[in-house]
Amino acid sequence: MIILISNDDGIQSEGIIALEEALRPVGEIFTVAPDRAQSSMSHALTLHRPLRVQEVAPRRLAVNGTPSDCVKLALTGLLPVRPHLVVSGINKGPNLGDDIIYSGTVSAAIEGALLTVPSVAVSLVTFSDFDFRAAAEFTAFLVSSIHETGGIPPETLLNVNVPPLPKSELKGWRLTRMGKRHYSENIIERVDPRGAKYYWIGGDDLGFDKEDGTDCMAVHEGYVSVTPLQVDLTNYRVLENSTLPNFVWP
Ligand code: MN
Repeated sequence: MIILISNDDGIQSEGIIALEEALRPVGEIFTVAPDRAQSSMSHALTLHRPLRVQEVAPRRLAVNGTPSDCVKLALTGLLPVRPHLVVSGINKGPNLGDDIIYSGTVSAAIEGALLTVPSVAVSLVTFSDFDFRAAAEFTAFLVSSIHETGGIPPETLLNVNVPPLPKSELKGWRLTRMGKRHYSENIIERVDPRGAKYYWIGGDDLGFDKEDGTDCMAVHEGYVSVTPLQVDLTNYRVLENSTLPNFVWP
């Protein structure tokens, strides 16, 4: 199995190195990742400046672009082979519920799915004391299982979040849906040394909706969450049972 690895924390991040080490026994690995931190870049593509690729080690390529740039470049000509799987991470921090919309980690996997390669995004749910061992081991298990069962449907990706616990304390894993997180939405206004105002986007973690079946709840209870996502954003409930006015136009 050929695996493309990427992330949004940058190619030097301990998370991507842990992922490479865990997946090396599972398949043939190519890494194409941003040359610096690119968290919260969502699905940005670089269209108005040149992208440079630097081979930092054999089969390890750093790109001066976004996570989506990296996966698009890798799958549309940069790699000598077509990977069977894209794995993005391991992110330093959660990508639960609403986080997914902003996440560069998840977007790297979305880009893989858009280009019809089965994809997985992996995040460690903590902002300190990063121990990637359990997350790396689970990812290797998941990737092997996917390969054996032929696993991820077309245009689908799996979003994995791992609680910051040693393997012995994890309760297992659950198939989940996107939950709803709550952040404080107040912006911080300051004044710079030259007297001009500047702003800092806020976002203190205020918890999440305690609903069963969600990624947030599973992780809260000590399970690894695995949420299947699709690149088709159509709201089929509205399409099939429309509450929109049925007016004639023109
Ligand atoms: Mn990140």
